Amino acid sequence: MFKSVNISDSGRILNKTPPNKPNTSPMLQFQNLVDYGFWDYLVNVAIYAVLAIAAFAAFWVYFKKDFQSRRIQQKRTASPSLLRSEVINSFIALFILTVIDVAIYIAQLNGYTKIYTNVSDYGWFYLVVSVVVMILLHDAWFYFTHRFMHHPKIYKYVHKVHHQSTDPSPFAAFSFHPFEGVIDAGIFVIFAFSFPVHMIALWAWQLVHVVLNIIGHLGYEIYPKGFNKHWLFKYKAPSTHHNMHHEKFNGNYGFYFTWWDKIFKTEFKDYNQVYDNLHERVSREEQAKSQAASSPLHVTLMPDANGYDIASKAS
Ligand SMILES: [Zn+2]
Ligand SMILES: [Zn+2]
Repeated sequence: MFKSVNISDSGRILNKTPPNKPNTSPMLQFQNLVDYGFWDYLVNVAIYAVLAIAAFAAFWVYFKKDFQSRRIQQKRTASPSLLRSEVINSFIALFILTVIDVAIYIAQLNGYTKIYTNVSDYGWFYLVVSVVVMILLHDAWFYFTHRFMHHPKIYKYVHKVHHQSTDPSPFAAFSFHPFEGVIDAGIFVIFAFSFPVHMIALWAWQLVHVVLNIIGHLGYEIYPKGFNKHWLFKYKAPSTHHNMHHEKFNGNYGFYFTWWDKIFKTEFKDYNQVYDNLHERVSREEQAKSQAASSPLHVTLMPDANGYDIASKAS
């Protein structure tokens, strides 16, 4: 998933020009790759774990009641065993992504990739545009490979693992079959060999990817009312969009955006209705809360001069 700077040998990876092959023994070169893979995996797992645990702790545990009206699937609750398997699957999938990272690192060391490290080579404007281009290309890659993995003859061998989570939690973000990890990382291979990409751009793209992946599997809607019908924002997929894919399977295949689903008419017909219903529920609950808080019947207990509690009307 992430291309990270080799901590033990950062000088070499930062060279733009293809570095000379290390003047070390094959054993040391192998050790260098193992070190790179170790740190790469550690960073991948740490980012996934920190974001998934923070999101899970906030929405599924500590502020669960506050967010109840935003819960997309009101009746379902993911079981502890499912959560466990989401975590285990994610650790395995992240390992596969690390193996691909190491393969690209080897190619980079030998000067085969287009990854560069001097911003001045193409400038900041190019770097920012390259992040946008990567997001757009990744979105298309995801939509079409995702639909391919839903083919009836293929689905049960690969993508079924990800769909064990019919009510996904943040831990499901990378819960997929190892081969799906290979397909998912395919876009990274394309980027590394197709056009100049800076390390910062790769990190920025991956950060956007991971954060949106966690949000897409949050189980709660955090995007605002009317987002789905706004002339521009309706093309950005909110949490409900991907959550409905997990609940109902054959539709809403997009990840970052909704336009591929709109173009190919694979968006669920009731998507807007589900989104609107959720926000009506949120509005109702907020209204009820504010009414309760301002109601003259609302009482608070205050101690009197003798230390006894007396009921007093809240202002
Ligand atoms: Zn998913
Ligand atoms: Zn799917």
